[in-house]
Amino acid sequence: MRRLRYEDLLCYDAIVCDLDGVIYRGRRVIEENVSVLRELQGMGKVIRFLTNNSTRTPERYVERLRRVGFSVSPQDVMTSGMATAIYLQERGFERAYAVGSPALREVLRRRGIKVSAVEPEVVVVGMDPNFNYAKLRRAASFVFAGRPFVATNPDTSLPVEDGVLPGAGAMVAAISAASGRDPDVVVGKPNPIIFRMVARDLEGGRILFVGDRLNTDIAGGNAVGWDTLLVLTGVHTLGDVETLGIEPTYWVENLTLSKR
Ligand SMILES: [Mg+2]
Repeated sequence: MRRLRYEDLLCYDAIVCDLDGVIYRGRRVIEENVSVLRELQGMGKVIRFLTNNSTRTPERYVERLRRVGFSVSPQDVMTSGMATAIYLQERGFERAYAVGSPALREVLRRRGIKVSAVEPEVVVVGMDPNFNYAKLRRAASFVFAGRPFVATNPDTSLPVEDGVLPGAGAMVAAISAASGRDPDVVVGKPNPIIFRMVARDLEGGRILFVGDRLNTDIAGGNAVGWDTLLVLTGVHTLGDVETLGIEPTYWVENLTLSKR
């Protein structure tokens, strides 16, 4: 592991970025990272985005990313919700019971998966801002009865200014506790599945993954053989590298500092 220099960035054909903690933090845009990424895109580098958040559609992210000056289309953004929908479609599922946001239900429908509580073939669980006992009971009953149990992402919480927001992992944990079964697959980072979905849309070349979390971003990027960069603009610090035993290829405080 070494500190990133600006020249290092020029060696890559594609840069895949996490969103929260890299591009923005809550509502605030992390301009120190964004300005350099925009510049690299202007030089012809491919910039893609990969997030474990399943509560927005790619189109919603595109609006936000265009507002900060990126040239971007929905195919450039992979969310854990999209990846889950693709995963299920590729395995022939057509009917799912879904605990999750309206965005998750929307991307499932787009991939031909009917969202229904009647005889579902699979139970899909993502972050659901309206999670309640009735949903927990239904999901746990289907899982207990043996339906495949698929989670969008493992994140149990997201740090926010005034505390934490419970994430998909918190809902998955409740359903696991009630049903006695862990998910069969968790599609989001660090699962190589979602990284490979991004890679197959890229035309080869050298890929750098930029993220702020060691256990999801860096561990997942390392597992698929990409070079990885830990930026210290989000959750993890340099001290966490040793504590967690997950080492990126590079680290840097923020991308602007790589120019010094
Ligand atoms: Mg992040």
